[in-house]
Amino acid sequence: MRSRRLQWAGAIGLVLVVLMATTTADTAQRRERAVGVDLEETENGLLVLGVSPGGPAEDAGLIAGDLLVKVEGREVLDFAAYDRAATTFDPRARFDFQVLRDSRLQVLEVTPGRPFPWLTTIIEWLACLAYLALGAVALVQLPGDLRARLLMLLSLAIALELALPVDLLSLPGYENFSFPVVALLVGFQIGLELHLASSIPSRQRFGRHRRWLVPAFYGVGCGLGSMLATTLIFDSFGIELPWTLELAETLVWDVGNTLWAVAVTILLTTAVARCRDALSRQQTLLVLLAGLPWSIHMLALVWTGRLGGVSPEWLGVVEPVVLVVYPLGVLFAIFRYQLFDLEVVVKRGLVYTVLTGVLVLIFYASIGAGGALLSRFLPGDDTSIWLVAFATLVLGLLFAPMRRATQRVIDRQFFPERTALREKLIHLASDLPARGSLPAMGQNLVEEICDMFGLEAAAVLLGAESGILSPLASTGAPGRTDESLLLSNCDPAVRVLQRTGRPLTVDHLTSKSPTIGDRLRPFGAEVLVPLLRRDQLIGLLVLGRKLGGRPFPAEELELLNHLSQHVATAFEYSQLYESATRDSLTGLLRRGAVLDALNRELDRSFRFGRPLALAMVDIDRFKDVNDRHGHLKGDMTLKRVSETISRGLRVTDQIGRYGGEEFLIVLPETDASGVQVVVEKLRDLVEKVTTTADNGEEIRVTISIGVVTVDQRPGTGEAPEVNDLIAAADAALYRAKTGGRNRVEMRTATG
Ligand code: GH3
Ligand code: MG
Ligand code: MG
Repeated sequence: MRSRRLQWAGAIGLVLVVLMATTTADTAQRRERAVGVDLEETENGLLVLGVSPGGPAEDAGLIAGDLLVKVEGREVLDFAAYDRAATTFDPRARFDFQVLRDSRLQVLEVTPGRPFPWLTTIIEWLACLAYLALGAVALVQLPGDLRARLLMLLSLAIALELALPVDLLSLPGYENFSFPVVALLVGFQIGLELHLASSIPSRQRFGRHRRWLVPAFYGVGCGLGSMLATTLIFDSFGIELPWTLELAETLVWDVGNTLWAVAVTILLTTAVARCRDALSRQQTLLVLLAGLPWSIHMLALVWTGRLGGVSPEWLGVVEPVVLVVYPLGVLFAIFRYQLFDLEVVVKRGLVYTVLTGVLVLIFYASIGAGGALLSRFLPGDDTSIWLVAFATLVLGLLFAPMRRATQRVIDRQFFPERTALREKLIHLASDLPARGSLPAMGQNLVEEICDMFGLEAAAVLLGAESGILSPLASTGAPGRTDESLLLSNCDPAVRVLQRTGRPLTVDHLTSKSPTIGDRLRPFGAEVLVPLLRRDQLIGLLVLGRKLGGRPFPAEELELLNHLSQHVATAFEYSQLYESATRDSLTGLLRRGAVLDALNRELDRSFRFGRPLALAMVDIDRFKDVNDRHGHLKGDMTLKRVSETISRGLRVTDQIGRYGGEEFLIVLPETDASGVQVVVEKLRDLVEKVTTTADNGEEIRVTISIGVVTVDQRPGTGEAPEVNDLIAAADAALYRAKTGGRNRVEMRTATG
């Protein structure tokens, strides 16, 4: 469906670009033939109404009031005859213009040719492309949203109007097909624009109570447009109508445009005033502000013309600029305020391409215009080329920093909340590694993210070698269970995340894999942010609903995307460090690390004559658990037991995984009576731990503990060897096992 719509957008775009190119070529040709004279058909011939300052006609000495009689010896009594004569014009030759001035014939030599209007042409191209892009964005978004459909039609109608060779207006003669087409397009635009303005921010603001309003908009707009079109066509064939062409033109250009500009402004202003929530108000205000220059320009054009006879020239010059503001404003409204709920991917693809495209075009336009301008003021020798090249280079160098600076200023002035959020995220990312351990980092991350984005819940999952993503930390999830958040690396939705590397909504992912929806629903997950390192998925950030049920704005997803890259790096380094010292299943110290700790503590206890205890723990009949419930449940039990023992220790105690289901605990500053209390407590705690098996059965285990204590007086005897201590603890453990298990055996080591 979408690809079909993209093809349509491409085809329409191609047609318009070809039309636009034709218009530009046409303009170039007409400028070569133009002499800068404003003519009016009279009974006696063509009357000169005025001449453009600095134009060929003025140079040749033509003045207002002259009656043009002949060009190159041929009579030119009407526009058609003049046009025929003009086809022979050439900017490199002189042409005889015979005029009647004060009842005397005079021959003036005119050299046709006016400079090509670079700036206007570039801006017209920009405006046409911007409308085309706006139309394409709306076309791709077509289904369901009335505003998107209206916007598409309006953009394409305006783009078509811009692409049509309207420059013909400056030449005499109405035998021109594009005038009636433009008249029809303008009429249609009036209807569309009013309809669109009445459905922002939400559709059918008026529809329910005033069903006649929308048909009336189109009735008035299209009615005026077709009246003018018909009058133009009839007039060109010399057929008389009950009304004059002048009346039709006044109705459309003066009355129609005035009504249109005022009505759109009123509709949008009342909408802004009536909006109840801030977001809709911002959306509508943005569209109003984007359209305002156009409305003001339109009114100025109409009313300076009405009151002063001729509209000032600068109004024509700013017109294309004013034209670009509106599509850019609406594109911005779509991007910033979610005017339409474009999907992230479409929005990124199209909006970014359009915005960057427009920036690049403006860049080239300013280079072109700057170069052309500069070459005008410089003498025409070779050095001027180098100067232009140098100026272009400087402009190119300035472009990127200027763009960044402008963006920063705009961000700070108009979107302080966005800047604050970005700064907070940067701070969070740089602060993360300082949290130390992985779980502390995870907890800090989810809590901060919940706080910053106003979320009901968030969790972070990290991948293990097994290809399972398991929870590292989570917050605010009602009724959450650890297991409901386990995700497989092979899940199609997880693979989509890995491939795109972007935050995606759970709704979007559920269409790829229904299981992910089931898995994440109890958690209330809304968006998943992949954590990637070198294209490999190392974890997932699971974000719950926003407080108040709002969707995530695209911009927040963008910020999360940036954050995720920093987080992934921080997690990876922390993981690397921990994997060197910590056991991946239990999170306890590895065998080497706990033996290092024992060595250090033994040394310290000998030097300062302090007590030290060592406990060797082994789970009883653990093979049976594996045999009966499988290794996965065995692993989970092992994890629970190690967590229980860790929680039962002081922070100065160190515990490591010594073997499969054997743990070594180093307890500094602990004598025989002290350690006895601790290990009895541990034995008791473990006894109470339960894990639920797949068949619903409760898995319970017990532990046996062998303890050895070192009680030294300073300076007496020799320090015992680490190996001796372990052997002694092992022997005690053996006695505990043979003595019936689920019990503690004590020994004392001497130097
Ligand atoms: P007891 O200690 O009471 O004499 O009996 P036991 O069955 O526990 O015997 P032992 O300590 O010799 O057995 C160790 C068993 O623990 C062997 C293996 O099946 C299991 N085991 C060791 N490491 C792991 C592990 O990482 N995961 C799982 N699931 N099981 C492990
Ligand atoms: Mg055992
Ligand atoms: Mg064992």
